Amino acid sequence: MVRRIALGVVAIWLYATPVSGQVVAIMAGQVVNTEAGTTAANQIIIVESGVVTAVGPDVLIPEGAEVVDLSSSTVLPGLFDAHTHLCMIVRPGRDGGHYYLTTLQDSDAARAVDGVINARSMLEAGFTTVRDIGNEGAYACTEVRRAIDAGRTVGPTMINAGRIIAPFGGQFSLQPDRPNLAEPEYFFADTRDEMVKAIRENVHYGALVIKIVVDDQDYIYSVDDIRFMKEEAARAGRRLAAHAWTAEGAHNAAEAGVTSMEHLWAIEDADLELAKQNGVIAVFTPFPDEEWEVINSLTPEEMAGVHAQQIDRIRSALRIGIPMVFGTDAITELPGHTRGTLAMSRIDMFSEAGMTPAQLLRAMTTTAAELLGVAELRGTIAPGMAADLIATPGSPLDDIQELKRVFFVMKDGVIVRRDPS
Ligand SMILES: [Zn+2]
Repeated sequence: MVRRIALGVVAIWLYATPVSGQVVAIMAGQVVNTEAGTTAANQIIIVESGVVTAVGPDVLIPEGAEVVDLSSSTVLPGLFDAHTHLCMIVRPGRDGGHYYLTTLQDSDAARAVDGVINARSMLEAGFTTVRDIGNEGAYACTEVRRAIDAGRTVGPTMINAGRIIAPFGGQFSLQPDRPNLAEPEYFFADTRDEMVKAIRENVHYGALVIKIVVDDQDYIYSVDDIRFMKEEAARAGRRLAAHAWTAEGAHNAAEAGVTSMEHLWAIEDADLELAKQNGVIAVFTPFPDEEWEVINSLTPEEMAGVHAQQIDRIRSALRIGIPMVFGTDAITELPGHTRGTLAMSRIDMFSEAGMTPAQLLRAMTTTAAELLGVAELRGTIAPGMAADLIATPGSPLDDIQELKRVFFVMKDGVIVRRDPS
């Protein structure tokens, strides 16, 4: 953590505008406390060397500070996307929407370039921290993260997963002549020795979180398998994120007490209860129809069924009260969208499922910061926290659609987006 602070300071020297390393005073019309779901009017936020040093209505602006006037706007903490794949773009016109073909056609070098582009796009949309959850070939996203940390390129704080660990086959259906087609995309680990090796190699090559696919094959990871990997990951201070698409996979992940369960299309209510008891965080990744149609070519009836299923599972989670964090899984190249705007479009699905703006903002900031292990530095606006701030014309607490109108982004004290108002 200390190292990350230091690197954030380096970024300021490289990118600060217009006065390097200077004090910035932000005049905010209102500031949102996303944890409490409240706003405070007419606040002044002082930022020094990438860190917020004061917030309040009567804060003195130091002499010589750069003043940023957001006095007719709403300022809130930078947002989190806890389930992204920056080093993967599915291009429907090229590969029919099949991400398997993407992994075969795009070199790791191409994927690192995509990662840099997507990282900037996410940041400009207002996502100042992301958890990149694998599908990056041979650690392309590790290099993207290192470049961001070193200030060589601009992007969100990244917690990346490295290679996804899965039972033989990963998420693909292989043919016996070419069993290695799913590697390095996936790290096959069926025995305990292979699980240990997969985790240790991932950590060595820069994974900050361990991602497993619990299901998607006939053999799925058992509760004991998952507990075993959770403990092995914990030895290196890594948390365990579990892709769980099926009811059985979600059950095993819930019982094993993973840090987070991802997707949860078919999770049963009893397993949402169990997961809540076991301290698991739910990361739903609801696909809007426009994207799911491109990937899957469904009939309107099938599409309506898929849509309803996703909404229904999030509704159950809300009713049961399991902590939720915003995730997107946005990977498709769609006309009129950047990676950032595509990710932000997911707020519509969560809203439709009944999440209030206050609940959604918590899922995109403070609860996400807890899940990613960065809550001491990010996710709130307070003295001592990294200056990751965004601004919208109106308050997202009143209308969550305001998040699609982000016009100002500051990351570690550096202004990376400021549209003319
Ligand atoms: Zn995913």
